[in-house]
Formats: sequence, C-alpha cells, structure tokens
Amino acid sequence: GTEGGESKTYQVGIDTTYPPFEYEVDGEYTGIDIDLINAIAEDQGFDIEFNPMDFGGIIPALQAGQLDIAIAGMSITDERKEVVDFSDPYFDAGLTLVVQSDNSEITSMEDLEGKTVAVKSGTTGAQFARDNEEEYGYEIAQFEDSPSMFQEVSNGNADVLLEDYPVIAYAIAESGLDLKTVGDRLTGDQYGIAVLKGENAEVLEQINAGLQALRDSGEYDEILNKYISE
Ligand code: GLN
Repeated sequence: GTEGGESKTYQVGIDTTYPPFEYEVDGEYTGIDIDLINAIAEDQGFDIEFNPMDFGGIIPALQAGQLDIAIAGMSITDERKEVVDFSDPYFDAGLTLVVQSDNSEITSMEDLEGKTVAVKSGTTGAQFARDNEEEYGYEIAQFEDSPSMFQEVSNGNADVLLEDYPVIAYAIAESGLDLKTVGDRLTGDQYGIAVLKGENAEVLEQINAGLQALRDSGEYDEILNKYISE
C-alpha cells in the first residue's frame, strides 16, 4: 500500500476563550478563527488539530515546535515578527479601555493614576500597559485569560481593563457583562495567522493562498457575518 495522498496534519494553537474568534459550544470549537482556519485547510488540502491554550503560551509553543500554526486573534506586531512569520492580515482590531458600566470617573488614560489596570499575559494589552505605566501611574494586574480579566473589573478588584474592541464589544453584547468601553480606541492593529519564523514557508504560502481564495469566493465575508453583525 502507498501512503501517498494522505494529507499532512498541522497542530494549530488557539486561545482558550476568545469569542467571537474562538470558543467552545457543546464541546466543539467555534468562532471566526476556527471557521477561517478550517476553510483554509479544506481549500489547501491539509488537516488540522486544535490545541487550546492560554494566549501567553502560544508563541512559546510555536518556538518549542509543539505547534505549526497559531490563530488566536493575534495582532501583527514588529516584536512578534522577530520570532514568527505572519500571514496576510485578516481582521482589524486594536485596544480600548473597559470599566464597570456605572463608572463615570474613568474616560481616558489620564484618569488612571493610582488605579489598577487588568491585562492578559502575553498580549498587546499587557505590552501597552507596561509601556505607559510610568507616564500614567497605575498598577498592572495580570491574568491568563480574558474571562478572568473581565471578572476582575466586574467584581471591582480592578478599575479598568485593556482588551481588543471587537472582543469586548462581543462579550458585552452576548454575555451581558456589566462593563462598557470608554474613550477613544488606543491602538489600531491587524490580526494575522502565525507560523514559526523561517521554518514554515510552505504552510504560510498555503495559508495566504487559502485566505485569498476565501476572500474571492465570498466565504470570508460569510464567516465574519455569521459572528459579527453590523
Ligand atoms: N490581539 C491581542 C494580541 O495579539 C490579544 C489576543 C488574545 O488575547 N487572544 O495580543
């Protein structure tokens, strides 16, 4: 018998809980990232296996060779480009401040002196908080996943959190969290699919080709519209 024609299985790292990009419903992974990578894999003829983990563990797992691909609402940054290669961008995002719904005290970074800012380990939010800590004079509290971070502000242990605006908008709309976004968007960035730098040129090419095919066929828009209403 021949093994020829059997497709390769890639290990895909995803964030544990990051709706609408990746989350679990009845034991099945679902969300924009899940649908996109499944559709790309189908278009390009490879198989995938999902590995949910804390976001902060994903790039280390790529570097350790435990993952081939990461799709986790991951923002394309110059710092990350030193260790991973990114696909073409597939989604626009960026950071916003989030406070309890009835908080009228905090509306911008200028209001954060002496406050506690909750962030998620390894994220652009955590980096942004560190970069501005000295200027604005707040304390940083770090969490491993977004729900724990949201909880911390809901229950009043932290005053404010930093999260990507599409994610917090979805969380507030869908789960009735007692939170609101305030102020201007702090940053603008784009999500990309990551592979270990310099090691995976072939799969990166497949990912970009698949992404383009989904855009051309309209499936990309269908996937986004399924999770995000205008
Ligand atoms: N987009 C943010 C980042 O890349 C957050 C990602 C996430 O929490 N899954 O750091």
